[in-house]
Amino acid sequence: MLRNYTEVVVAEVFDSVLREEIKQNPDLCDCQRCREDVMAVALNRLPPRYVARGLGEVYTKASFDQVGGKAQIIAALMHGFKLVGQSPRHKKDPTS
Ligand SMILES: [Zn+2]
Repeated sequence: MLRNYTEVVVAEVFDSVLREEIKQNPDLCDCQRCREDVMAVALNRLPPRYVARGLGEVYTKASFDQVGGKAQIIAALMHGFKLVGQSPRHKKDPTS
């Protein structure tokens, strides 16, 4: 079983970037669907780094370096939040 390490590190910094983005744009939707859309946009902009299961722990310490650095991951996520924030794929639910 292969794991895309980029996905692991994107998930790792997702919430901290979300908190910052919500300060800029309080209307930002953080439902599961939008989260996955943002993550997909970010992952498509970052190089994948596949590791075989079991090797994950070895790569943990170097994870950000493995995928081009933390700044690059944050930039890709910010781009995702911007795109999804501008055109979420669902109507805003007034009850949520
Ligand atoms: Zn949403």
